Amino acid sequence: MRVTTASYRQSDTRTFTLVVVGLGIGKQRQAEKHFIVPFSQLQASIRLITSKGGKIKAVIPYSEATPATTSNVPSASVTTPVNQSAPPAKSGHADVPVNLYKPKDPFIGTVLENYSLLAPGAIGRVNHIIFDLSGGNLRYVEGQSIGIIPDGTDASGKPHKLRLYSIASTRHGDDLKDNTISLCVRQLQYEKDGETINGVCSTFLCDIKPGAKIKITGPVGKEMLLPADETANVIMLATGTGIAPMRTYLRRMFEPGERAKNPEYQFRGKAWLFMGAPTTANLLYDDDFNRYQSEFPDNFRYTKAISREQTNPSGGRMYIQDRVTEYAQEIFRMIEDPKTHVYMCGLRGMEPGIDKAMTEAAATKGLDWSELRPQLKKAERWHVETY
Ligand code: FAD
Repeated sequence: MRVTTASYRQSDTRTFTLVVVGLGIGKQRQAEKHFIVPFSQLQASIRLITSKGGKIKAVIPYSEATPATTSNVPSASVTTPVNQSAPPAKSGHADVPVNLYKPKDPFIGTVLENYSLLAPGAIGRVNHIIFDLSGGNLRYVEGQSIGIIPDGTDASGKPHKLRLYSIASTRHGDDLKDNTISLCVRQLQYEKDGETINGVCSTFLCDIKPGAKIKITGPVGKEMLLPADETANVIMLATGTGIAPMRTYLRRMFEPGERAKNPEYQFRGKAWLFMGAPTTANLLYDDDFNRYQSEFPDNFRYTKAISREQTNPSGGRMYIQDRVTEYAQEIFRMIEDPKTHVYMCGLRGMEPGIDKAMTEAAATKGLDWSELRPQLKKAERWHVETY
């Protein structure tokens, strides 16, 4: 067995690639297989593989498993994690409130503020809207969504159905008084047969005035919860209003008032936000993120892709996936660490581009993203909410 690592420590958070032969049936037994395993599961995985007749050819720190190291592995592929019974890296939330208010009996909130998040010259309309939750029991945590039932009826005269919106405030609310909730809403507008169509709920929300009452359901969602571990690493990929959950994480991590309120959560891992927007004027909460970056330079990194103003290396528009490609090595080095979570949020259209960029990035390490992604998902480290 070739072991190319120097010192193994109990507290080791690194991930290793096991190069294995002898598994499967027939010809498959000759094929080399690669398994990505955190240090904590290394011994158990080796035992399991050998008990199934497999032979460990090498144990390589994942970061060293580049094509150069694995060039003698023609069928380099990452298969399902060996230790199927290993517990996933749980986000550590014991009590996440869900569906406290249902559509039949929604919470009635009051609009406190509704203002534009865009700078002059921006494309479209995106508002930050704050609701008062006093007098109810609507609690939530970072990464959840709520439902809004717009006033009025649909074309068939029935009350409108609810629309989901990612919560943009931490559980403490923007004013830290624990009784408000904020949303970041883009008005949907599109052209049809020469006519401009306005989305029902997003227009209702962007137009709503302070003092108005609003029907709220939820909260819902456990996909985008932030790990409770203060030392976790968090990579965030956001486009447009997909920034809403990321804003909640970043406020919880770096806003001084939040840190003072949450002695049990003094973030000291690495957070890296990739934000995609069409123009600088469309960047959302940009001043706050710049401030976090200057106040916490060792813990927060902020990378922007501004498609209509920046160009990618091939001279085209700079999209978020181009930034992922640009920083592929660093991103994958972070992903090797079992403490790293990746969050993606925004319009569904962003997914294929990110997938392509991750596929190319993984390939530079001799890995197959289509096999690695489900592993990360299973370990609750790959979080996607697109709409
Ligand atoms: P509707 O009146 O419901 O119109 C939408 C419909 O219009 C579509 O179903 C489609 O049939 C049609 N349509 C849309 N675009 C076009 C087009 N270009 N051409 C032709 N037809 C088209 N939105 C936010 O702004 N902020 C958020 O934080 C947010 N978070 C979300 C979180 C989740 C989990 C989900 C599922 C969605 C989220 N959304 C968010 C989207 C939100 O729920 C609504 O879908 C959005 O606001 C549009 O609703 P609407 O009532 O304005 O549009």
